Amino acid sequence: MLYVHYCMTCDKIHILNGHKKRCPACGKKLHELKLTFLQYSTLDDSDRQKLLMRIHDRLSGGADTLQSQ
Ligand SMILES: [Zn+2]
Repeated sequence: MLYVHYCMTCDKIHILNGHKKRCPACGKKLHELKLTFLQYSTLDDSDRQKLLMRIHDRLSGGADTLQSQ
């Protein structure tokens, strides 16, 4: 099974076989996304960009920025 992971350090989505904890590129912590690989594969480029930005905001902004939008 393929799972969609995000690496904050690379700022990239990694599609990996299984639940991984470490980024294969830089060795830092990975975040596994709720999104399935199938869902991810149906997204077009602009949706992927939006997804990346959302994840990045969530991970870097923290939970205490509810007012930001
Ligand atoms: Zn990485």
